[in-house]
Amino acid sequence: MKYRIITIDGPAGAGKTTISNLLANQLGCVYVDTGALYRGVAYEIKQQKIDWETDASLGKFLAGLELNFLMQKGNLVLISSGRDITPYIRTPEITMLASATSAKPQIRSALLDIQRNIAQSQDAVFEGRDMGTVVFPDAPFKFFLFADLSVRAKRRYEEMPEGKEDIQKVQQDMEKRDTNDSQRKEAPLRVASDAIKIDSSYLSIPEVVEKILKNIQKG
Ligand code: C5P
Repeated sequence: MKYRIITIDGPAGAGKTTISNLLANQLGCVYVDTGALYRGVAYEIKQQKIDWETDASLGKFLAGLELNFLMQKGNLVLISSGRDITPYIRTPEITMLASATSAKPQIRSALLDIQRNIAQSQDAVFEGRDMGTVVFPDAPFKFFLFADLSVRAKRRYEEMPEGKEDIQKVQQDMEKRDTNDSQRKEAPLRVASDAIKIDSSYLSIPEVVEKILKNIQKG
């Protein structure tokens, strides 16, 4: 592996996105939110009304899929066939569809090359569920961020526009996603054997970033 790759895995709401972003800024490298790719697939499945449970129609859809990232004014933008779809991929509906469709091996393998290609040309912080276990098993720095379910649900709820959903529903959906993501056959959410585990339940964001940086400096 030519470039320095840092992987951050963990369940939803553990702080991966904010922390990965800050970390990449401090290290002067790119940040890659791989969840956005799974969300992009789910969004296109919905838009194009794809019967994703049927292998043939899913295969045809994936063959025509063109997803890539662009960096615009310091923000990561997801482009699908030339169109910025970033504003549409974070709705509760797309979130749950991404969780269901990401269990499909065909979808996971279609996204593998996009992720690995980014790592071919630059240092990067990759955030997701299977970064340290499947996509970059040889990465020199692996972290697994987690936190109590109620803490994670509260964080997610506070990020949402006011009155959108109640906190119980946010927590229920999060628990369902945890179950889907950790019980699927293909690339389940797991701690890589060589990953450093960090419980972010009672740590501030700067404290977590500091912990990660210390470990990187040590390595
Ligand atoms: O990280 P985020 O919550 O945006 O991810 C949305 C969904 O995409 C997750 O619930 C998970 O099912 C899927 N995902 C995945 N593997 C990744 C990143 C995300 O399966 N590396």
